[in-house]
Amino acid sequence: MERPVRVRFAPSPTGPLHIGGVRTALYNYLFARRHKGTMILRIEDTDSQRFVPGAEDYILESLKWCGIEIDEGVGVGGPHAPYRQSERREIYLKYALRLVDAGWAYYAFDTAEELDALRREAEARGEAFAYNYAVREKLATSLALPAEEVKARLDRGDQWVIRFRMPENQTVEMDDLIRGHVEVNTSTLDDKVLYKSADALPTYHLANIVDDHLMAISHVMRGTEYLSSAPKYNLLYEAFGWKPPIYLHLPPVMIESVLKDKETKQPILDENGNEQPIVRKLSKRWGDPSFEDLLQKGYLKEAIINYIALLGWAPKDTNEEFFSMDDLIRIFDENGINKSPSIFDTNKLTWFNAEYILSLIHISEPTRHA
Ligand code: GLU
Repeated sequence: MERPVRVRFAPSPTGPLHIGGVRTALYNYLFARRHKGTMILRIEDTDSQRFVPGAEDYILESLKWCGIEIDEGVGVGGPHAPYRQSERREIYLKYALRLVDAGWAYYAFDTAEELDALRREAEARGEAFAYNYAVREKLATSLALPAEEVKARLDRGDQWVIRFRMPENQTVEMDDLIRGHVEVNTSTLDDKVLYKSADALPTYHLANIVDDHLMAISHVMRGTEYLSSAPKYNLLYEAFGWKPPIYLHLPPVMIESVLKDKETKQPILDENGNEQPIVRKLSKRWGDPSFEDLLQKGYLKEAIINYIALLGWAPKDTNEEFFSMDDLIRIFDENGINKSPSIFDTNKLTWFNAEYILSLIHISEPTRHA
């Protein structure tokens, strides 16, 4: 590894940890330990609407329960504190303004009603509204308004956002250690909001870049839902003149289920009265088991960790399936992470759990007879 390994688990406190979240935390932790690196916990609480009180404590407790040790971050402290994003507002504002000064970003003063009207007009034409190169110089932005007008609006405290000035028709690319090369044409992307004066908070787009850079994160390992955004984040790194981290986007955790009605949650039958099998993302919304459910049902910690480690990763050169946390730290290798989605199988977990219980009985037997 060319630079010291520093990885982060960056949950949003929007509810209890789900199985995919525990897996992300676990892989980051194993990767950090394997490479004698640092495991960081950052709390991404910039979405005030999705904030759930108590969720942060629950996350901290869950990680502790799993045996995932945090070296730096919320609850521990460290050289890059604070590690809770809501406590880093001034930092984000400073960097957002730096992009405005450099011409990579601009102020936009549109109200929610104005944006709604633009969306409706576009819809009436059968189009989707995009805030981008085609409109930014015609709307209420610092690119269109005279400088005095912009200053007057800022001085009198009008609400504003800072948007990224996405270049037109440029190919942006990135390489992912798991998924390979990803490219996107910037004309398909809109001018993302980076910072909002209304709540003095950044959006995820800005916050994750600024923090990963300032916290010297070497590898970003997170869910695959962020893969398509990653090339555009590389453009933000370019705008700041920073080196992006190495990316590893993890495959989603799926479950085999049947097609159900959104409202009633009852199976939708086909014309022959049969249930229709599907594979979909694991989700509490559909009553799938969450990490919390597994704890409440009394599954052994060792069995859960062992099973979750194998959801999307397999060791090379062995068919062995039973691994303690120490074994995992020794053998975890990012090259063994799958590209394709993994399937959560409650029966398999239950089998692991039974095997662990049996092994406990075997271990305690000699002691009993001694
Ligand atoms: N806060 C994001 C989440 O909870 C994390 C994304 C990331 O790791 O960059 O999904």
